[in-house]
Amino acid sequence: MNAVLEIIPLGGVGEFGHNCMAMRFGDEMLILDAGMGFPEEKVFGVDVSVPDFDFLEQYRDNITALILTHGHEDHLGALPYILKKFNVPVYCSHFTAGLAESKLEEHDLLGDTLLHRVEPRDVIDIGVFSVEFIRVSHSLVDCFSLAIRTPVGTVIHTGDYKVDETPVIGEPIDLRSFRRYGQEGVLALLSDSTNATVPGRTPSERAVIPALEEIFAEAPARIVIAAFASSIHRLQIILDISQQFNRKVCLLGRSMLKYVEVADRLGYLDIPDGLLVSFNQAKQTRDQEIVFLVTGSQGESRAALSQLAMQSYKGMTIEDGDTVVLSARIIPGNERAISRMIGFLYKRGANIIEEKRRLVHVSGHASQEDIRIMTEAVRPKFVVPIHGEYRMLFRHKEFVKNHLGYAEENIILIENGDVLELDGEQAKVVGKKEIGRTFIDETGFEAIRNDTVRERRHLANDGMITLVVSINVKTGELNAPPEIVSRGVRGFDANNGFSDEARRIVTASVTGASRDTLADEGLLKEHIRVELKRFIQKQTGGKPMIMPVILQV
Ligand SMILES: [Zn+2]
Repeated sequence: MNAVLEIIPLGGVGEFGHNCMAMRFGDEMLILDAGMGFPEEKVFGVDVSVPDFDFLEQYRDNITALILTHGHEDHLGALPYILKKFNVPVYCSHFTAGLAESKLEEHDLLGDTLLHRVEPRDVIDIGVFSVEFIRVSHSLVDCFSLAIRTPVGTVIHTGDYKVDETPVIGEPIDLRSFRRYGQEGVLALLSDSTNATVPGRTPSERAVIPALEEIFAEAPARIVIAAFASSIHRLQIILDISQQFNRKVCLLGRSMLKYVEVADRLGYLDIPDGLLVSFNQAKQTRDQEIVFLVTGSQGESRAALSQLAMQSYKGMTIEDGDTVVLSARIIPGNERAISRMIGFLYKRGANIIEEKRRLVHVSGHASQEDIRIMTEAVRPKFVVPIHGEYRMLFRHKEFVKNHLGYAEENIILIENGDVLELDGEQAKVVGKKEIGRTFIDETGFEAIRNDTVRERRHLANDGMITLVVSINVKTGELNAPPEIVSRGVRGFDANNGFSDEARRIVTASVTGASRDTLADEGLLKEHIRVELKRFIQKQTGGKPMIMPVILQV
């Protein structure tokens, strides 16, 4: 057997979200992260998407473990869906496990899953692989990079990280461990590219404190802060400042309550007694003494902040004098929803403070100078940019080449599905796997088939025609003129004669059909459909979905 290591990203490389990677040596395979994504198909009733795990089927007996770097949805959200297919042991930190548990519980998988909690610097042997968990800083807590010893050399997967020497919760990034591996020799560094286009260092989580203190000092009435529920450092800062300014805190939004519950239970959040109040208590509290910490920083229509802005949140609305702080970044694709929501907030009379106006948000990802620190600590033979759209991967490559002195051939740009082969000397892409997406409707956690989404898109773009044709069984002739009903079809309206024309085409197609066609309902349907489709396409250029119904009487 050839001693080669294969690295195959199933998602997250060349796109935002779906972070998931397979690492294979011989007949053993590790899966690193299982993230979800937020697809454009949202308008067609798709809530989220997960990588298509079908390609792993051929390695069913080879998968030995699933390792999670941290608890963000784009690294953890697909966990139930992959475990339903491949029930393998999961390794992650305590906090990630807390989040994973609540997710597995929703899917009724908790009892069937082997969840191993690991500490920083733990080393776990999994077959030919040996994995050390190295503490890194990020916007949530208890996050790891993975140092994976393989028979061809050590591979370090950074997960998501930034270099924060003064985090709010827990210890700083463990650069010593990275340097230890650097001295030992590292074959490849798979490194977060999310902020690779951003010069300088990413500020510490603490950097938002001064602006938030100013906002608290100035706010004349209620304060509403929208943040990612998973940004645990940020939540701690907001809780602390609220306490300092004698304001109670009320949490709104399902995920805000969930993350705070998990982080509090596991001891990551330090919540002063009596600080948190219920919604009812909050409504009894004076405006100058309350903070609402809410979900919906991305303008999600069902989340608390949008509902407050749209006056559809039960029991509360945004009012004149409220200060609304968006303490989060704009995830690409959400710009319009956020802008629209801000418009509504202004209409309600709120003062809006967003990232562009004050330093109320810092990123959790490595900027260029953080990437420098990481790369210089690890000194890998190969740098492989991961986690980000292609633009970011490319800029990561450029930075490493131009500023860290790496040769072009030692920086490997890969995309989802690429099979990257490493033999200790060389790294090259040797193949490509077809890896699609599975769309999920979160209301029932059910996968929506790709062709269902395709049908929905088809209906949305071109509309639908149903036609009912009643045929005399004996003679094969029409009993009555065909009935045609259209919905959303360009060119069809009751008065323009187009429907009559279409009816004539359908009649002609039935009378012109051969005896064999008439005898076979399936053939006849297809025959009518094709004739009508041809006519409509010629007349209007549209391609509506056509659904013939045949009644044999
Ligand atoms: Zn993350």
